[in-house]
Amino acid sequence: MADHVNSAHVALDYIRTRMENARRRFGAPPETVELVAVSKTFDAEAVRPFLEAGQRVFGENRVQEAKEKWPGLRAVFSDVTLHLIGPLQTNKAREAVALFDVIETVDREKLAGVLAEEMQRAGKRLPCFVQVNIGGEEQKAGIPIDETVEFVRRCREVHGLDIVGLMCIPPDGQPAGPYFAHLSALAKQAGVAKLSMGMSGDFETAIAMGATHVRVGSALFGRRAVAAQ
Ligand SMILES: *Cc1c(COP(=O)(O)O)cnc(C)c1O
Repeated sequence: MADHVNSAHVALDYIRTRMENARRRFGAPPETVELVAVSKTFDAEAVRPFLEAGQRVFGENRVQEAKEKWPGLRAVFSDVTLHLIGPLQTNKAREAVALFDVIETVDREKLAGVLAEEMQRAGKRLPCFVQVNIGGEEQKAGIPIDETVEFVRRCREVHGLDIVGLMCIPPDGQPAGPYFAHLSALAKQAGVAKLSMGMSGDFETAIAMGATHVRVGSALFGRRAVAAQ
C-alpha cells in the first residue's frame, strides 16, 4: 500500500476509534455517528488517499472549491456523499444543488425558498440541516435560537424541504458541551432526529451530547494554511 494511503488509514482509524469510544461512553447504538471528513483547502491529490482508504462522506465549505475538486474525484469514486457545511448565497444555490448531496447550512427564509425551487428544478430532494446560531453571536451564520422551531416548520410545510436535523458551530474559546446540549434540546422541540456538531477539537464531547454527524478536518488532513481557515 502506498505510504500516503497508509497514513490516511492511520488517521481515519485513530478518529474512528475515538468516535467509537465516545459513542460507547454515551451509550448510543453502534454506527449511529457519521464521520464527515472536512476536506476544505486540501486539493484532490490530498483527498484521494482518504477515498482509497475507504472514507466516503466529505464536507466542503465553498461551492467554488467543491466544483473544482469533486467532479473529478466522483468520476472515480461514484459513491461519495458530499455535505455543504459553509454559508450559501442564494445565487449559488443552483450549483450547490448540482454538486452536493446534503446541505447543512439552511439558515434563512430566502435561502430555504430558493433551495426548494432549485431542487424541484433539478428533480432532487436533498436532505438538509438547519444551521442554528447557538452562541447568539452577531457575526455568525445561523438562525437565531428562538426562531429555530418555527423556521424548521416553515422549511418543511411552506417550502417542502427535507429537514433532517440541526447543525451548529459553537463560539470559540468556550467549553462546547452546553452549546451541544442546547442544540440537542432544540432538535427535540423542532422534531428533527439528526445533529451535526463537533469538530476536531470537540467531537467526543459532541458525541456525548448526541451528535449523529461530526465534522472533522484538521485532525484528519493536518493543519490548514491560516489564511484559508
Ligand atoms: C472547517 C470546518 C470544520 C472542521 O474544522 P476542524 O477544526 O479542522 O476539524 C467543521 N465544520 C465547519 C462548518 C467548518 O467550516
